[in-house]
Amino acid sequence: MKEPLRAKAQIFGPGFPPAGAQIEFEVGDSGLRVKTAEINDGTPRWSAINLAKSGWDGLQLRLEWKGAAGTYSLATGDAEAIAAIRRFSAGKSEVNTARPDAATRAWSNSLIWGTVMFPLLLLVVIAWQHQRIADWAVDLIPVEQETKLGEIIFSQQKANLKLVEGESLAMVRDIGGKLTRDSRYKFQFFVTEDKAVNAYAMPGGYVVVHTGLLQLADTAEEVAGVLAHEVQHVEQRHSLRGMAQSLGLYAGLSVLFGDLSGLASLGGDLLKLKFSRDHETEADREGLKSLVAQKINPSGMRDFFGKMAAQSKLDLGFLSTHPASDERMADMDRLIKALPDEAQKAAPLAVDYAAVKASIAPPK
Ligand SMILES: [Zn+2]
Repeated sequence: MKEPLRAKAQIFGPGFPPAGAQIEFEVGDSGLRVKTAEINDGTPRWSAINLAKSGWDGLQLRLEWKGAAGTYSLATGDAEAIAAIRRFSAGKSEVNTARPDAATRAWSNSLIWGTVMFPLLLLVVIAWQHQRIADWAVDLIPVEQETKLGEIIFSQQKANLKLVEGESLAMVRDIGGKLTRDSRYKFQFFVTEDKAVNAYAMPGGYVVVHTGLLQLADTAEEVAGVLAHEVQHVEQRHSLRGMAQSLGLYAGLSVLFGDLSGLASLGGDLLKLKFSRDHETEADREGLKSLVAQKINPSGMRDFFGKMAAQSKLDLGFLSTHPASDERMADMDRLIKALPDEAQKAAPLAVDYAAVKASIAPPK
């Protein structure tokens, strides 16, 4: 006969509050002895008691039995009491109702994080920082790769261009040369016979000006303003950034890793890519700076963009890719007025603009 053991436990069942009550119980050879509402319910025998491991880590033991008043359960985490219960019940089998132990929890947590949460977070970050990631990828592209891409696109476009030589080209090359003197790109300027008022730049420094734009302009400074703006779209890699944003990382990576064929096939579409408002503002601001640096009167840029905005009924291809909002015009005007006097009073370019206009076919 073993000495009975007394210990404390939490009891649930008839006569006890829903949250249970702390009671003292006794474990012995025949079974339990607990003070319950029904006197007979308090002395269940081992044969009537079900044992179960419970609690978070299976470190608790739960004893369950049916009495006349209902089902009771008693839970204890007291190691000594648990050992006594196991001893007195002679190794009665225990159901495992414990919740996963710490190791399993850690493992399943890392599974949830690794397979679900982390990729999800990564996606959120990518979506959120999409533009920054695209810009970062674009910054990694070497100039040579970009130039190759421009070369391919230009050679594709060339078939549709009616390239013009003579005074207009000489003027455009002269002004363009000044604006790109310190560039990391080897700029090439072209004039094409086309009555649509347009000018555009391809990655790597290919700049094309339509005769229609030269006809709408009234001074060489106005043309210089457009060229300065276009040159900055190249310098700031706006086409590549626009591509990276609209085509995704694929564009940046394919340029980076030298597979240009897929991108080049989109060449025509790239030229129709609308620049973002931020890119337009940047091209205006940097363009104005470059005009001032070359002592070219910067008012021509504002005058020409304003003239185009006012003639919105014209076939203005330029405005569809370089939207000129009122806000943008006002910004340009503010920047010019903030410049030092000498910048605004720069001597006119030594160009007979009337002669340049006369040298190109009038718009039909
Ligand atoms: Zn633009």
